[in-house]
Amino acid sequence: MADRINLLDLGPADAEARLREFMAASREAPYRARQVARRLWRSPAPSLAALTDLPLALRGALEAEFTLPRLTVAARQRSVDGTEKFLFRLADGEAIETVAIPDGGRLTLCISSQAGCALQCAFCATGAMGFGRNLAPWEIAGQVREVMLLDPPIMPTNIVFMGMGEPLMNWRAVDVALTTLNDPAGIGIGARHITVSTVGVLPGIQALAARPEQFRLAISVHAPSDALRQRLMPINTKYPLAAVIDAARTFVRRVTFEYVLLGGVNDRGGDATALAALARQCGAFVNLIPLHPGGTGGFTPSTPSATAAFARSLRARGVEVALRKSRGMDISAACGQLRVERLGRRAPGRPEEHADIHVA
Ligand code: SAH
Repeated sequence: MADRINLLDLGPADAEARLREFMAASREAPYRARQVARRLWRSPAPSLAALTDLPLALRGALEAEFTLPRLTVAARQRSVDGTEKFLFRLADGEAIETVAIPDGGRLTLCISSQAGCALQCAFCATGAMGFGRNLAPWEIAGQVREVMLLDPPIMPTNIVFMGMGEPLMNWRAVDVALTTLNDPAGIGIGARHITVSTVGVLPGIQALAARPEQFRLAISVHAPSDALRQRLMPINTKYPLAAVIDAARTFVRRVTFEYVLLGGVNDRGGDATALAALARQCGAFVNLIPLHPGGTGGFTPSTPSATAAFARSLRARGVEVALRKSRGMDISAACGQLRVERLGRRAPGRPEEHADIHVA
């Protein structure tokens, strides 16, 4: 038997087209294709065998041809603030993290795009783990599918690519996953409720900009000068600040700057002034993110007064600012930490660090 087709790895339209071909070849009614396609993402089924509204013989025939693979929940933790964190095990033993963050009527799901990360940002736990591999499209969108399959289901209203990995270094898969997340025949989350967060991978920003949907872009800036950014984010040698700001300026839609406040490192008065100038150059909105405590690299979070002064300074210069709260502090919820706890580190001897999840 030829390899079976993973229906979840195709965009919803392609999956339905494959199902239509299959139904035609099997002399089944054409409407059956749509009936199955609906159960891929919109109203997800745990397996093909679970499609009990189909005749048994058809279910068997579908199983011979197609697969609906699952991610396995290896750990689940719930914070007193309602934040929930999942560690998913992949078929090859890799593990990724997903975080569900309720906030009023919204539920933001923070998803991973790679197992591990190659970028080594100085304050980030995932970077300290090293790079495992790119996720396939179905493993990216599948994180959303899996939480929708829980009992009771978690139904995300917003998606942020702020889990493990650099989404724009896995564009081919992220491209398909964005379609699955947004397409009304897929999960159907509005493009403006889906945010891709990047260190500033220029070809990826261009590819995202070229899509017709209004996906949001968040850029991890974290420093207002190349000298400092280089220290915090080694990728700055490849994608320096000026080029990243330029890409943000030409991005079709308004971008968000992410800025993790590191006490005494990037939170001084001069930093705020310089950051305000950059934000104004491209009309960016600034998300100030508290450093998740417990990290290494000798970093400490900014004090409340330094944080407030930083935000005030930006606002005084006409920049729109949001101050993010850390969520899930009591569940060792910092991204990367759960995996480190359960599986050990990829690169032994590296310091344990935290990469918190934040809602854009
Ligand atoms: N690679 C992408 C997306 C994943 S990280 C990016 O860098 O944008 C999502 C956000 O979490 C980034 O802004 C990242 O810098 C930030 N982050 C990483 N470690 C953190 C920590 N310890 N505390 C707070 N934010 C952190």
